[in-house]
Amino acid sequence: MRKSSLAIALALLLLLGGGALFVNLAGDALTGYWSFVNSVRPHGWAPAAATPTPTPTAIPKSCGSLNVRVLNVGQADAIFIRTPGGKTILLDAGDSKRELSALIGSARIDYFIATHYHQDHIGGYEALHSDVGAIYDNGNCGGSTSKIAQDFLAFAKAGNHVVVAQDMPLKIDDCINAKLIVAYDRPQGCWKDDENQNSILLRITYGKQSFLFAADCGTECENTLIQQATPLSATVLKVGHHGSATSSSAEFLRAIGASYYVISVNATESAQPNKKYFHPRQATLSRIYARSQNLARTDLNGNVHYITDGNTLTTASDKKATQREEFSGFASASADTYGPIPEVAG
Ligand SMILES: [Zn+2]
Repeated sequence: MRKSSLAIALALLLLLGGGALFVNLAGDALTGYWSFVNSVRPHGWAPAAATPTPTPTAIPKSCGSLNVRVLNVGQADAIFIRTPGGKTILLDAGDSKRELSALIGSARIDYFIATHYHQDHIGGYEALHSDVGAIYDNGNCGGSTSKIAQDFLAFAKAGNHVVVAQDMPLKIDDCINAKLIVAYDRPQGCWKDDENQNSILLRITYGKQSFLFAADCGTECENTLIQQATPLSATVLKVGHHGSATSSSAEFLRAIGASYYVISVNATESAQPNKKYFHPRQATLSRIYARSQNLARTDLNGNVHYITDGNTLTTASDKKATQREEFSGFASASADTYGPIPEVAG
């Protein structure tokens, strides 16, 4: 009787789990059985207690949409953000009060972030109303003596001024995670000879979607952040330094892994005799093209909008442009070299 019970049990177990079970019969038979079954089960046959795939960020029910508008302010930066909890962020002020006033109107700004002390990022600050909630900047740590830098610093100090000395989480609302990222908090401190490297970057994640605004972060800034393994991944990248050749290295773009790219630039204005920046550069556009063909430019598309509920992302712009136009840049520091990168030529 005992023999036949054992035989039936063995037959059942063999049927279910196979011969490998034998080695575990004398010990923890069940554990051995399930580990064996797990090792041979067909792909996709997951047990009920499977480890869940980590979800990016849980979204509270009360959260609305995250709206990002990369404003068309010429060869400059100004980005208006309305968070799902209804707060407003203005990231940079373009370079003229009149231009910015026309775009933001009477909107109250809860958070103004000046990424760095250059005219094309702080020049339009007087469009801000006196009741701006808080002003974040690098405290002019690079020591700019320009009039606009001194004027803006005085304005910031007269308000609720927060000097960003190191990476800093921004507690804006319960819907999003926002963080200010700076390279100058690493051992070298602020750069005295290149204010672009003192840029404050902003990273916002909302559910499955995320944005990285790279300000004018260039080679030194990018390399520092990569070496320190700073989390940079994002769905949408506001490309650094207006698409210059010394930003958006292949390694930096890889660390971000964005699907959508937007450049705040005006190619015509950047080539004028008083500027001669020749942004955007073909080499940079080429590096972006190698990763994605989803590129928007303020000089070709006007104001560029992104709206997300944390799951899906919708993009829109004032104007359409062809991919050939979008991926046309300066091959060198010369106005005569403007044209499409080879991949989109012809
Ligand atoms: Zn700039």
